Amino acid sequence: MIRKIALEEHFLAPDLIPHWEPTVAGIPDAVAARLRRQLCDFDGERLEVMDKAGISKSILSLAGPGVQDEKDAGKAVRLAQSANDFLATQIARHPTRYGGFAHLAMQNPTAAADELERCVTQLGMQGAMIDGQTHGQYLDEPQFHVFWERAQALDVPIYLHPADPEVAYAGLRGQPKLKRATWEWTVETATHALRLVFAGTFEKFPGAKLILGHLGETLPYLLWRFDSRTQILYGLSEEMRHLPSFYIKRNISLTTSGMCSPEPLRCAVDGMGADSVMFSVDYPFEDTETARAFMDDTVLDEALRAKLAHGNAERLLKLV
Ligand code: MN
Repeated sequence: MIRKIALEEHFLAPDLIPHWEPTVAGIPDAVAARLRRQLCDFDGERLEVMDKAGISKSILSLAGPGVQDEKDAGKAVRLAQSANDFLATQIARHPTRYGGFAHLAMQNPTAAADELERCVTQLGMQGAMIDGQTHGQYLDEPQFHVFWERAQALDVPIYLHPADPEVAYAGLRGQPKLKRATWEWTVETATHALRLVFAGTFEKFPGAKLILGHLGETLPYLLWRFDSRTQILYGLSEEMRHLPSFYIKRNISLTTSGMCSPEPLRCAVDGMGADSVMFSVDYPFEDTETARAFMDDTVLDEALRAKLAHGNAERLLKLV
């Protein structure tokens, strides 16, 4: 069993439980209760599950949407700080087993940049996780330049986690089974990442680092098509001096969260490069044993397996 580091592993802070409850409104009570228990545990089951799967370290992040759905921006800023202080306390109790991604109130980009800096420089966190759009605002928009400037200066990655779009996609009308994790979140999150590419965010901030789950939300599969449409329809420009695939490969890394299938893994490694793909589970929403077996048993070159399981995360998150 190879040693693993996992990057999309969630928790709940007591103050943020009311923001999380609506996300389990439609699922059976027993499942919701299990998730709540697992998200709030730091000392028991979580560590046992990690040990059984060979996960030496989990980078913990708040289960979304957290404060990003808060209407009162001032309250969002305060609640994010309290969630980060809570996480730092838990990490301090198990410093070799846990790291952390900051939770940020993107309603106030300057406050989010300041909080990211506090979490990285004072609380020892490895970056931040952002749960999709914030009241319809996407991270490529000019008000977030202050945020990317700070993330680039701190040299930490931003994990773009799926979340609901502000307005439901018309194409899903009458097809509730396609909502959320089945398909809707893939479309929304891939679109968000592509906005950063096509708006020139990675041209303006060449050192910005984005992480996507689910083996890249289909992006590795579509690299050639993004480039070919750009060449045929638009050409290069001031805001995009290179083809889309250049920025996707340079600025984006992927995790295997919620994707335990060898074919898309091969596509991701071939398309993005062996240094850009990292193991993750998405605990407690995905089954850790399934993710472990996928990482341990998929036929892979052993040097590549070591990169995917822990080496790439250690380098990107500066864990060694
Ligand atoms: Mn997740």
